[in-house]
Amino acid sequence: MSHRILITGGAGFIGSHLSERLLAEGNEVVCVDNYFTGSRRNVEHLFDNPRFELIRHDVTFPLYVEVDQIYNLACPASPVHYQHDPVQTTKTSVVGSINMLGLAKRLRVPILQASTSEVYGDPSVHPQTEDYWGNVNPIGPRSCYDEGKRAAETLFFDYRRQHDLSIKVIRIFNTYGPRMHPNDGRVVSNFIVQALRGEPITIYGTGSQTRSFCYVDDLVDGMVRLMNTDHAVTGPINVGNPGEFTMLELATAVLELTGSDSKIEHRPLPQDDPKQRQPDITLAKQNLDWEPRVALRAGLERTIEYFRGVLAA
Ligand code: NAD
Ligand code: UDP
Ligand code: UDP
Repeated sequence: MSHRILITGGAGFIGSHLSERLLAEGNEVVCVDNYFTGSRRNVEHLFDNPRFELIRHDVTFPLYVEVDQIYNLACPASPVHYQHDPVQTTKTSVVGSINMLGLAKRLRVPILQASTSEVYGDPSVHPQTEDYWGNVNPIGPRSCYDEGKRAAETLFFDYRRQHDLSIKVIRIFNTYGPRMHPNDGRVVSNFIVQALRGEPITIYGTGSQTRSFCYVDDLVDGMVRLMNTDHAVTGPINVGNPGEFTMLELATAVLELTGSDSKIEHRPLPQDDPKQRQPDITLAKQNLDWEPRVALRAGLERTIEYFRGVLAA
């Protein structure tokens, strides 16, 4: 059955891939975005599709549209961007979620929240399971993002308890792929762009900190599966690739796959930078019959190809 689907943050990296996927399945897609970190360019290849619509709007203001599913992705995701205007970041997660939950409540439609592995902070449980409550600094430079997303989760579960809304909370682990912004500031795009330009690869700290990187197509598949579960399934549910790598390993892989002779340079480690991160995806396997298919090297190759095109243009 086809749906009319709202994606907030739809002109961003993940939102653009989700739009493509939902359109390919025959749905109508309404994207809402204020173009803070996303852009019309990310979705311009969809403009000719009569089932696609793009609205410039900031989710911290009320929104009245008629749809039958909502994916709430609006929020800058890269530390550089979410720390640029931290008050707006918290507002986007908190006020934006209230507005989208109010919309879902009026329409009685399911709503999915793009939450994050950052709710676990600098985790003392490894790998992270959904029942771990996290280790988050409430007053640091990352707090606007981490606590905003935690408050959003609270709001989702309270709308469920108070109004019996159909909510779906997905905890997304580091995701990468084509259409990340070259100046996004996240590690995968930084390393690839630096390698392709022959500039130094900037490793923050010793490079022994770890992350687990999920290719965007795998993530989008998990999101769609969660949205289409029945009312009883709410999450929170981890979606990520359990393959765990140090930043030094990532840099080495990028250098090898690009054939670059960039040198590695170390820079200071940002405050509160989590030391390790790896999803436990048992729940996703059980509830969504989901697991990632794209290994890091294969995903990096596709992403490098994309950035070669962008940098050549
Ligand atoms: P992105 O920055 O490319 O996309 C976010 C989009 O939201 C952008 O298009 C931006 O313009 C828009 N936006 C920001 N504030 C808005 C507002 N107030 N009103 C309307 N639109 C607004 O980042 P992304 O990687 O595509 O992330 C999408 C979602 O997934 C975010 O909610 C992010 O927190 C979450 N997430 C991403 C990752 C990851 O590794 N990419 C990991 C965990 C969670
Ligand atoms: N809202 C919206 N679109 C709608 C319905 C509600 O943007 O279609 C916003 C509205 O601004 C409201 C918020 O969602 O402040 C929360 O709605 P809810 O019904 O939960 O609360 P109330 O209207 O009682 O404040
Ligand atoms: N990082 C790095 N060099 C960069 C950008 C990031 O070494 O040019 C590190 C960063 O300190 C962190 C990891 O890579 O330990 C992932 O950073 P990112 O901003 O991509 O995501 P997050 O910290 O939110 O997981």
